[in-house]
Amino acid sequence: MSATIIDGKAFAGRVRAQVAEHVTRLKEDHGITPGLAVVLVGEDPASQVYVRSKGKQTVETGMASFEHKLDADTSEADLLALVDKLNRDPAVHGILVQLPLPGHMNSDIVINAIDPAKDVDGFHISNVGLLGTGQKSMVPCTPLGCLMMLRDHHGSLSGMNAVVVGRSNIVGKPMAQLLLGDSCTVTIAHSRTKDLAGVCRGADILVAAVGRPGMIPGDWVKPGATVIDVGINRVQHPENPEKTKLVGDVDFASAAEVAGAITPVPGGVGPMTIACLLANTVTACSRANGLAEPEGLTA
Ligand code: NDP
Repeated sequence: MSATIIDGKAFAGRVRAQVAEHVTRLKEDHGITPGLAVVLVGEDPASQVYVRSKGKQTVETGMASFEHKLDADTSEADLLALVDKLNRDPAVHGILVQLPLPGHMNSDIVINAIDPAKDVDGFHISNVGLLGTGQKSMVPCTPLGCLMMLRDHHGSLSGMNAVVVGRSNIVGKPMAQLLLGDSCTVTIAHSRTKDLAGVCRGADILVAAVGRPGMIPGDWVKPGATVIDVGINRVQHPENPEKTKLVGDVDFASAAEVAGAITPVPGGVGPMTIACLLANTVTACSRANGLAEPEGLTA
């Protein structure tokens, strides 16, 4: 293996420490405690794990955590009423509605009901527009985490060829916008892209956000490229069929032979996502109070 492993777990620890430091300053100098409200509808097991982890880390960084668990058959109107209440609550600076929502709800309507200033997931249409036009916005957590790791590794990204595989609203598109904002030459690839292997081979920065285990092999990676693997796929454990393991969208073993740097799965992008949620909450709180934002924690 020749690639440098980008340790997202350690990086996320540093981000959380910065967040905690800023929280202490907000409390001691201004008497303000940043608060994050997380809303979970239904009992999706993966969502429950995420929500628990988010709440725990929120409290560990000194912020207030407000968890709202609603039954799966809650009406959309009742969820919107809760969002409205949280929008008006001065103790709440960030609101996250855990996706996916049950099928009878329209997630666009729910997300767009959140006050954009409290939209710490960065999915509200106003934040999407602000990001797209290069203005100050709330930035989606996963792409923000990827950008932080890339900036940390490279310093300037200016002029680099970046290929983002995947065009979802939550990862691929905002990732591409952020890379463009840092003056990369950006290609967005997707399921209809012709010669995906050739497109990937042109990338100095290759971001995989597809959801297909190991679909990007080492011979699609340009020698020396930086590979950011966003994919989280649960597959059967190769040595024990009764167990499962998490793998990314990149075939780690072969890609690590060629890449200059690579994020592992698990322990790469994943931990950065929650760290960036905490960062966004402290940013939202600072903005809401007209105070300086924490440095290095926003795009
Ligand atoms: P989506 O399913 O919303 O999007 C997947 C994208 O991949 C689509 O744009 C799709 O193209 C593209 N795609 C699918 N098949 C191919 C193919 N064969 N070749 C090229 N492109 C293809 O997924 P998400 O963006 O939500 O998530 C992507 C991955 O990232 C998942 O594994 C998810 O679990 C993970 N994830 C990880 C997070 C983290 O914290 N680390 C957070 C969020 C997601 P098309 O549009 O043409 O259909």
